Amino acid sequence: MTHPHVDPAVLEIIKALPKVDLHLHLDGCILPSTLLELAREQQQPLPADEPQTLLPYMQVEGQCDNLKQYLERFDLVLPMLQTGEALERTAYEAVQQSAADNGMYIEVRFAPQLHTARGLTAAAAIGHVIEGLQRGERQYGVRAQVIAICMRHHNEALNREVIEAAAQYLGRGLAAVDLAGDEAGFPPELFRSVFALAAQHGLPATIHAGEAGGPANIREAIHGLGAVRIGHGVRLREDPALLAEVRSLQVPLEMCPVSNIQTRAVTDWSDYPIRDYLEQGLFVTVNTDNPTVSGTTMTREYSELAARFGFRPAEIATLILNSIEAAWLDAPAKDALRQRLLSSCASQGIQLHGHAHDE
Ligand SMILES: [Zn+2]
Repeated sequence: MTHPHVDPAVLEIIKALPKVDLHLHLDGCILPSTLLELAREQQQPLPADEPQTLLPYMQVEGQCDNLKQYLERFDLVLPMLQTGEALERTAYEAVQQSAADNGMYIEVRFAPQLHTARGLTAAAAIGHVIEGLQRGERQYGVRAQVIAICMRHHNEALNREVIEAAAQYLGRGLAAVDLAGDEAGFPPELFRSVFALAAQHGLPATIHAGEAGGPANIREAIHGLGAVRIGHGVRLREDPALLAEVRSLQVPLEMCPVSNIQTRAVTDWSDYPIRDYLEQGLFVTVNTDNPTVSGTTMTREYSELAARFGFRPAEIATLILNSIEAAWLDAPAKDALRQRLLSSCASQGIQLHGHAHDE
C-alpha cells in the first residue's frame, strides 16, 4: 500500500496533536530489532538477522486475501513472547512507540493464553504486561492499560481462565476483555457463557465483530455477549436496522483503517465507510490495530483520512475526543486528556465544534 500525499502543514498538525489508541495489539507492535534480540537471547531461529530484512516477514505488503492470512504474520513473533521478561519489554516498548507519535493514552490488548507455551499462567502473563505498561507510563507520561483477549479457536476452559485472570487485575492496570481471532470460522454465539462470566465479574467487553464476518456478529456481540464497544464494525452498514440501533446506543466502533483495507474488510479505500458512519451519527474512533504488521501509526491513520477523505484537523481532533470518551478511564482522567487535546488545538488554531458522534 502506498502512503498518501498529505498537505505538509496538515501532517505537522496531526503529528503534534496528542493522540489516543484504543485498539492496539501487543504482538502486532513488536519492533523487528526487539524480536531479533529476543530470538538471540532465547536461541530461537528467525528467517533474517537484520531489522530491515526481518521486517518483510513481520509486515503485510499491500492487501491480504483475508483476515486469516493477515493473522499468519503473528506466527513469527509469538514463540519469542513466552517469558515474563519478553512480555514486559514489549509492553514497555508499546508505550515508548506511542510516546514517539505524541500518544497520551493507549489500551493495549493481548491474548494471555497465546503466551503460556513455556509455563506462564494467563494471570502471570497479564501481570507482566501491566508491569511493562506501567514502567512505560512512568518513563513517558503516556497512560496505558491492558485488555485481555479470549481467542475464538480456544476452548471454553481456556477462555474462562482468561476471564478469571482478568478479573484479578480489573482496575489495577486492566480495563476490559475482548474476543479475537478467526471471526469467519467461529461465530460469537459460541462464547455466551464466557462473556456472561465476564459480566459477573464486572469486566467490560469489546468484541472484534463485523471485520471478517457480517453484521449479525455485531448484533450478537452487543446483545449476546454484552459488548459495550465493537472492534472494527466495518460491515455494520449491511444492516440498516442494526446500524440505527448501534447509533441510538452510541456503541463506540474501534475502526482501524489501514488494517481494515489490508484484511479486506472492504475492497479498497473508496469503499471505506468512515465518512458515511460519521455523517450517520455513529460513534467512530480511529486506531492502529497492529503498528508493525500494518506498517502504521496513529499519525499515519489520520493522514490517510486527511488524504483520502479530506478530513480537516478539526475533524481529526473531534475523532480524538471520541476516543477519549470511549476510553475505559474515570471522569477526571478523561478530563485531563481532554484538556491536553484542547490546549494543543488552541495553540494550533484548531476550532472544535462539538463531538463528531452526536452531531
Ligand atoms: Zn484487532
